Amino acid sequence: MKNILFIAPPAGGKGTQSDMLVMKFGYEHISTGDLLRDIDDNSALGKKVNKIIDEGNLVSDELIFELLEEKLAGIDKPFILDGVPRNIEQVYTLDKLLNKLGLNLDLVINLDVSYEVLLKRVLGRMICSNCKEIYNKFYKIPLKTDICDNCGEVLTIREDDTEETFKVRYKTYIENTKPILDYYKKCGKLVTINGEDNVFENIVSVIEK
Ligand code: AMP
Repeated sequence: MKNILFIAPPAGGKGTQSDMLVMKFGYEHISTGDLLRDIDDNSALGKKVNKIIDEGNLVSDELIFELLEEKLAGIDKPFILDGVPRNIEQVYTLDKLLNKLGLNLDLVINLDVSYEVLLKRVLGRMICSNCKEIYNKFYKIPLKTDICDNCGEVLTIREDDTEETFKVRYKTYIENTKPILDYYKKCGKLVTINGEDNVFENIVSVIEK
C-alpha cells in the first residue's frame, strides 16, 4: 500500500479523508495538528503551543519534527501524513527524516477547495474530543445536537476555527505551503483532486491505481 501525504488549505478535508482511509485500508494517520493538540494544555509547552495555534501561526520546525520522529520511528504499517510539510524548509527536513528512518512517500494528494467552501467548513466544524470524529453544522450534522454519534461525547469547536484566525492560516497556506506543490510535482508524486465533490471515491481510485 502507498504511503500518502496530504496537502490542503485549512479545513481542506485532510482530517476527514484520512479518517475514512484509515477505516477502509487500515492506514496509520499522523496529523501534526493532532500531535500538537494532544500536548497537555496545562503544561508550559501546551500553553505556548496553544497560543501560536490560536493566532494561526506556525509552531517551530524543531518541535514538529521531534513529535513526528517519535511517531514515525518504529511504524509498522502504511501511513498518511497530514499537516507537514508546511513550507519548503520542512520539505527538506521531512525528506531527511524519512531517509534516516528508511521510509518512503509514494503519493502526494493535493485537495483543491475554494476559499468560500473552506470558510463555511471552518465556521461549521465540530470535533469529538474523545474519538476525534469530525462533524459540520452545515454538511455533517450529528443526530443529537452537539453530541458525537459514535461515543456520546460532547462536541467541541477548535479555538482556531474563527474567521479571523482562518484568514491568517489561509494566507500562511498560500504563501508558504502552496509553493511546495511544485516540488512534489517535479518528483512526479503529486496528484490534485477536486476537494469538493466525490472526494473519497477519487482518492481511493488514485490509491488503487
Ligand atoms: P492543522 O490541524 O493541520 O490545521 O494544524 C493546526 C495548527 O497547528 C496550525 O495552524 C499550526 O499552528 C500548527 N501546525 C500543524 N502542523 C504544523 C507544521 N507542520 N508546522 C508548523 N505548525 C504546524
